[in-house]
Amino acid sequence: MEKFVYLFHEGNGNMRDLLGGKGANLAEMTRIGLPVPYGFTITTHACNTYYESNKTVPELVERQTLEALACLEERMGKKLGDPLNPLLVSVRSGSVFSMPGMMDTILNLGMNDETVEGVAALTNNPRFAFDSYRRFIQMFSNVVLNIDTFYFEQLLEETREQKGYVSDPEMTAEDWQEVIVGYKQIVKKHTRKDFPQNPKEQLFLAINAVFDSWNNQRAIVYRRLNKIPDHLGTAVNIQSMVFGNMGNDSGTGVAFTRNPSTGEPVLYGEYLINAQGEDVVAGIRTPQPIAALKEEMPEVYQQFTETSHRLEQHYKEMQDIEFTVERGKLFILQTRNGKRTAQAAIRIAVDMVKEGIIDRRTALLHVDPDQLNQLLHRRIDDTATRKVLAKGLPASPGAATGQVVFDADEAEQLGNEGTKVILVRPETTPDDIHGIVASQGVLTSRGGMTSHAAVVARGMGKACICGCEAIKIDLRSKKFTVGDRVVHYRDTITIDGSTGEIMLGEISMIDPELSPEFQLLLGWADQERKIGVRANADNPEDTKKAFEFGAEGVGLCRTEHMFMDQYRIPIVQKMILADNYEERMEALEQLLPMQQGDFEGIFEAMQGYPVTVRLLDPPLHEFLPYKEELIVEVTKLQILDPQSKELKQKEQLLKKVRQLDEFNPMLGHRGCRLGMTYPEIYDMQAKAIFYAAAKLAEKGIEVQPEIMIPLVGHVNELKQMRQLVVNAASTVQEETGTTIHYTIGTMIEIPRAALTADKIAEEADFFSFGTNDLTQTTFGFSRDDAEGKFLQAYIEHKVLPENPFAVLDQEGVGKLVETGVQLGRLTKPSLKTGICGEHGGEKSSIDFCYKTGLNYVSCSPYRVPLARLAAAQAAIRHQENKQEVFTTA
Ligand code: ADP
Ligand code: MG
Ligand code: MG
Repeated sequence: MEKFVYLFHEGNGNMRDLLGGKGANLAEMTRIGLPVPYGFTITTHACNTYYESNKTVPELVERQTLEALACLEERMGKKLGDPLNPLLVSVRSGSVFSMPGMMDTILNLGMNDETVEGVAALTNNPRFAFDSYRRFIQMFSNVVLNIDTFYFEQLLEETREQKGYVSDPEMTAEDWQEVIVGYKQIVKKHTRKDFPQNPKEQLFLAINAVFDSWNNQRAIVYRRLNKIPDHLGTAVNIQSMVFGNMGNDSGTGVAFTRNPSTGEPVLYGEYLINAQGEDVVAGIRTPQPIAALKEEMPEVYQQFTETSHRLEQHYKEMQDIEFTVERGKLFILQTRNGKRTAQAAIRIAVDMVKEGIIDRRTALLHVDPDQLNQLLHRRIDDTATRKVLAKGLPASPGAATGQVVFDADEAEQLGNEGTKVILVRPETTPDDIHGIVASQGVLTSRGGMTSHAAVVARGMGKACICGCEAIKIDLRSKKFTVGDRVVHYRDTITIDGSTGEIMLGEISMIDPELSPEFQLLLGWADQERKIGVRANADNPEDTKKAFEFGAEGVGLCRTEHMFMDQYRIPIVQKMILADNYEERMEALEQLLPMQQGDFEGIFEAMQGYPVTVRLLDPPLHEFLPYKEELIVEVTKLQILDPQSKELKQKEQLLKKVRQLDEFNPMLGHRGCRLGMTYPEIYDMQAKAIFYAAAKLAEKGIEVQPEIMIPLVGHVNELKQMRQLVVNAASTVQEETGTTIHYTIGTMIEIPRAALTADKIAEEADFFSFGTNDLTQTTFGFSRDDAEGKFLQAYIEHKVLPENPFAVLDQEGVGKLVETGVQLGRLTKPSLKTGICGEHGGEKSSIDFCYKTGLNYVSCSPYRVPLARLAAAQAAIRHQENKQEVFTTA
């Protein structure tokens, strides 16, 4: 008989899969003796059986729940529904991965017309009792009976106004009783039934609702964003209530054991006196900073500091803790690993090593490589003048510029169209998630550092300012005002989430640098990793940046980008349009010194590390004007100026463009196929590389050029191109009298190349897997068409787990990579292998490269730090066989 229900003392922290994160941690805290209100957890398996039995709670689950309830009642000395001594409980969802605010919790369950009187008598506090009852009706009606909170809020507001009150604490017991009568009428009107008075019925309706909430829209969106599987299900926690709303010696709050924004090792959080549950995060009243608790309730503060210390030592991770104080007594209601910015993650990992809480390897595993992108983002230029319009709380660092929008749907629509927007709201709720995703940043006028907007933005690494009370938002006329300044819908603003400052217009930003802690952590990573990290860089500036970020070479230098320059493109076009060999050579001779100059700069910036240069890859028509535009111009000239020289030129150009026109350029005349038909282009490029190498050698700078031939599918292609490069090298060596050490290799980006890698290796000194083209050619997808037209639908319908252009498809494309490496090394055991597609900067793909035995990964310069960390994690995880999962844990 399966056990579906666990009392808190029966579980522990390792039972996340079964008890959910919240349940497992409640059990663990109970186990180590912390003051946790007692309760029990219904397992995630029970949720799955609920769905299997057509959304009914199976009898076995029901029986075990009633048994656990009896234990809880005995322990508390109270009974659910007992009019004289009623037990009140919360019913809380809690899945394996925390999904903050995504699922619904019900507080004060067990309240009815009789028990409310009992509570009033027992506590000698009727005001509190009726306040709790009306909260329960409101929450229960919303979550279980699906009645919009709006109706209750409206009634409440009307009552307040009519009595001339400003805020809820002014309401008396009698006022609340009046409200309750109104609330019940609302329920009756919407459900045609009375509000359920039987506490056991309430309980099971609530349990069903928590199970149901696993599949509400917010939860589904959140899971999709965070790649949480749908089949996990949620656990349900039933816990006896403690009350933060019993008066001024009570309160409720949340706190992080360290600052989640900067990582500074001080308690960080907020609380509200005389409040319950979600009042803090909901952003309805702006709460007090946790430090103020020290003054207001010194003993509670002391106890809380000790507890948070203990929890951190116990979990060896920064914790995010919910607590409630009931008449001066502290209770802990939840703990979990705290979400944090990248900056904080690094500082905390490094500090915890220094404090002796964790070792270096654990510290490396505590930082999610994906998060590092945040730090490698641009920030506002220190020298730029800031005309600050208003200031709010600095809730999530980084800066962002965008057009003001006031609605999440609109933010999503504009964002998806490519417009940069800032979402401005009084406060955000989980229903706004899609709008936050599509925005550059978020600005709210209410709520604190732990409000919904702040938590979500930090998780996503987006700039966020909260609680900016200086801005008055007028949602209806789509504007906000600060004093007499008006900011309209779609005006551009800049927000600085590190300082909380809001500025009008766009402000210049600067490139990021690595902090000392970041450098230290990356140094530790370099000691652990077994795989090289190079960068894709096409010019000296990018190469310098890459070197600064720790790249050990250039894995891909794309020479066509050097052709795109506005001064060079006319020469390139001349080369393409040439009618004969002489004309073409003339243009190529002009291009050679230009390319040589670029190579000198790149080689010099890499200071002796290898540089892989790929010879020309794209089809030539990419360097010519668009056909459609030319046709229009020619037609115009034919009418307006039929005798002109310009017309003749344009007609010639059009003729060439038509000649070069291809049905399918991706599979057309490109890569080494260009070298085969225009060998003089590749010859020029090879010579430019060798002249540059010779020149630097003269200056005493070491250079390791690696010449790479693109798009090889058959060994004979490589054989011919290799000979061409070898000849160019001997010419230059003879001419300059300098010996150059170089290697020649190929990109593996066509399935045939991977499948015949043993043959290809005969002619190659190295392989570099071009996983972008290899993904296109393996799937038979053209990337632009796929991403523009159908890939999104594939991912939404779970036909593919991820975009294979972002995350390497290990099963298919990966198999070709594996095959390529194995066959290649059969021929040449020492064959050097690397990856230079975008995947080289993605953590799971890097893990794959490590497993497959590649020598290095290469990625864009800004991703180099991420790749260094991911490479270290791959090595640590596979050595220790530690399967630590990040995502949302
Ligand atoms: P979420 O996952 O959205 O944070 P929770 O289940 O943690 O939802 O509960 C929402 C709020 O209610 C939290 O502030 C929590 O501290 C509070 N709460 C939950 N259970 C109790 C309880 N038994 N007594 C008092 N407050 C509670
Ligand atoms: Mg919670
Ligand atoms: Mg390619």
